[in-house]
Amino acid sequence: MRMPQDLQDLDVLLFIDGAWRRGAGGRTLDIIDPATEELIGKVARAETTDLEAAAAAATRGFALWRATSAFERGKILRRAAAMLRERIEPIAQIMTREQGKPVKEARVEIAVAADTLDWFAEEMRRAYGRVVPARAPNITNLVLKEPVGPVAAFTPWNFPINQIARKLGAALAAGCSIIVKAPEEAPASPAEFVRVLAEAGAPPGVINLVFGVPAEISAHLIPHPAIRKISFTGSTAVGKQLAALAGAHMKRATMELGGHAPAIVFADADLDVALRVLLARKFRNAGQACTAPTRFLVQRDVYPQFLARFVAAAEALRIGSGFDPATDIGPLANPRRLTALQTLVEDAVEKGAKLVTGGTRRGSKGYYFAPTVLAHVPTSARAMNEEPFGPIALVNSFDTLDDAVAEANRLAYGLASYAFTASTATADALAQRIEAGMVAINDSHLSSPELPIGGVKDSGYGSEGGPEAVEAYLVTKLVTQAAG
Ligand code: NAD
Repeated sequence: MRMPQDLQDLDVLLFIDGAWRRGAGGRTLDIIDPATEELIGKVARAETTDLEAAAAAATRGFALWRATSAFERGKILRRAAAMLRERIEPIAQIMTREQGKPVKEARVEIAVAADTLDWFAEEMRRAYGRVVPARAPNITNLVLKEPVGPVAAFTPWNFPINQIARKLGAALAAGCSIIVKAPEEAPASPAEFVRVLAEAGAPPGVINLVFGVPAEISAHLIPHPAIRKISFTGSTAVGKQLAALAGAHMKRATMELGGHAPAIVFADADLDVALRVLLARKFRNAGQACTAPTRFLVQRDVYPQFLARFVAAAEALRIGSGFDPATDIGPLANPRRLTALQTLVEDAVEKGAKLVTGGTRRGSKGYYFAPTVLAHVPTSARAMNEEPFGPIALVNSFDTLDDAVAEANRLAYGLASYAFTASTATADALAQRIEAGMVAINDSHLSSPELPIGGVKDSGYGSEGGPEAVEAYLVTKLVTQAAG
């Protein structure tokens, strides 16, 4: 097992106008290893003057970048993708050290980020406008697509690189410059990602990276006249605050917020497939994914069998350091999740749920939480209403399609959803009736860059994949011209 003791302390800087620098006040924030709770480094904290410098750089970067052809922009993104693939191993080690996830998951995340850059580089070649037939002779009506302007992006700690790749890939492909406020808790792997893009040829000012106090940075950047577009991934509560601020300043916004995904298993489903897919989706990244299945709804006939097999599989998962190749579940990324999960489990049990396995912290050092299955969980339990964002599965039974749909749609969340059935009629009904941005039936492939990822209702608006993702960074301009 490779251990990170030989690694140096992390010293993460801001990246503004093409240069790495400390915060103007020289202040830093601690980086903690979630597997050991030890201090493993420092990250620079941006002050207002740094944010002003980033905004000025992004303004200059935008002027330069929008004048660069989509073909040239694509070349730089593709070069960055190739360089990222070459550096998967060292960057994965850094990500595991600061975020906790198994190295094998970190490698996949970085490979997907490279694919994401490639995909956006190609997609921008097809940002076609259109010619609209005119109502008078000698008139030409052109509909043009232009980059919206400098972007402020706020990305969370659960997928430290991929969350940036989606926003930055689409923004840069579209011709926008960007200021990314990446997660302070896992800042070093995002910094390596930005380093790759800079080395691949992104000009100074096009990409700026800041860290600091999230609320201070968003309060400064969202109203800033230089910024034309906001993109946030994180909790619904924070998303609503940022969306309100963006609205007050008439800034376009993409909000990728929380979820509470239903996973509906019908009696006619292939249980082997359902168990394999749901186990992997539930416990990947220790459950810290907005698309993780949370409310398992299993048709009554197969409920006992499904529950027993799911619990056995969850108990067989190996919890440990992300550096151990045998580890399936690493520590949670921060102590807030430990406390939150413990509270949700206690509340559910108090309200009558049956704790079938897990439910507690593992060990006394490191933020490890046992894979947890709660059964017969009443809808009054907080866990049935709040996003657990951790390795907790809530497994309940249902009788009819209508019952399952009613439960799936009960919450204000509407991000991912899963269903397993052999019936095409049932699948069609679910596809139409589930209120969610994503419905995966007998499948779990939700996260490819070519597919739109996003939510409805309180899960936010906008998309982070597919052509819709690029569209979010473009504005439409009409040019109507009479021949002279
Ligand atoms: P949180 O709500 O405090 O923070 C979530 C993210 O938003 C973090 O990255 C944080 O840095 C950022 N943030 C917080 N306040 C901000 C502000 N005022 N301006 C700009 N950014 C701000 O909660 P947390 O403890 O970090 O995470 C817990 C919850 O967040 C989870 O339960 C989950 O619902 C949500 N979350 C969602 C995702 C996702 O992929 N959608 C990722 C991480 C966290």
